[in-house]
Amino acid sequence: MAAALLAPYAADEQHSRGRRHAESPPRFRGEYQRDRDRIVHSTAFRRLVYKTQVFVNHEGDLYRTRMTHSLEVAQIARTVAVALDLNEPLTEAICLAHDLGHTPFGHAGQDELNVCMRDFGGFEHNLQSLRVVDELEAKYADFPGLNLMFETREGILKHCSVKNARELGDVGERFLQRMQPGLEGQLANIADAIAYNNHDVDDGFRAGLLSIEQLREQPLFGQQYEKVRARYPALEDRRLIYEIMRRMIDTVVTDLIENTRKNLLAAGPQSIEDVRRAARELVVLSAEVYEQHVSLKRFLNKHLYSHEKKLVMTQQAKTIVRELFATYIGDIQRMPSEFSMRAGLMDATGRARVVADYIAGMTDRYAIAEHERITGC
Ligand code: MG
Repeated sequence: MAAALLAPYAADEQHSRGRRHAESPPRFRGEYQRDRDRIVHSTAFRRLVYKTQVFVNHEGDLYRTRMTHSLEVAQIARTVAVALDLNEPLTEAICLAHDLGHTPFGHAGQDELNVCMRDFGGFEHNLQSLRVVDELEAKYADFPGLNLMFETREGILKHCSVKNARELGDVGERFLQRMQPGLEGQLANIADAIAYNNHDVDDGFRAGLLSIEQLREQPLFGQQYEKVRARYPALEDRRLIYEIMRRMIDTVVTDLIENTRKNLLAAGPQSIEDVRRAARELVVLSAEVYEQHVSLKRFLNKHLYSHEKKLVMTQQAKTIVRELFATYIGDIQRMPSEFSMRAGLMDATGRARVVADYIAGMTDRYAIAEHERITGC
């Protein structure tokens, strides 16, 4: 991407901290385009299509999966990136990679795998996303992982404990020094939250777990409901929800662009280093819209993610992950040879990590089938 099109505070490949393993520059693409393309070609990315966002993949064809979620995050973030003259290919790369480390069965799977790994350093999906792109993808002859640019990796690693940060080297430094990620990383993070807040309203309604009456109490939804109802009194519920959702996304995205512009003007960063040294993140919603956004998030937590129908699925998912983990830890030969050979060379902690890598990489349906094969139920 030509540097002239970018704002001075955007990430710019000319001033990048580069790749872990030196490579010759691409001939026809920018460096961050190359990152995005590598992510799209990765095995972990393809598997996102069969991984749970909120509803288990086989519960219905119309629900979001991690793949469609990641695409929605990317398209929201790209609009904002272009509006603010940030680096669009980098923004897209971070968004498409942000959930690569997710286990099967969404947060239920991640929580249970974390419990299984308690004595071996725990499991955290965000850290696992970085592990996927840094180490686990095995596609290139010259290096492990995808060998992505520093700024892409920095954006993928949203949070990190001090202990893990010490072990991560370059990309962990900012957590020790309390610095910010680049603006593209900040943007991917908030775009993630905007995307799921909105698409989970749609999926929750479709599943019959949320009602329009309940949703109207939420200011983000309620305000748009009144406007749409007034203008289209006869609109059927399905289209009503879609029309409200597109207006909700527009409201939040517009606020994000305007508020971030204000922040950039006030802070006046002249480079990505200024952005990193800023006291706080600059790509943020205004206080008023943030409050509404958080209120909707709390509402979804209470009425969708913790719905009793969801909790049944959660328990089943946890049982599957727990029993798979116990089986492979008990007999590493029950994993495919690429994993069992790696595990065979390691101590107990290393073996557990290989088992976690194997389980985390599974799609929902693969985990279910593998569990049935092993336990017969
Ligand atoms: Mg996400």
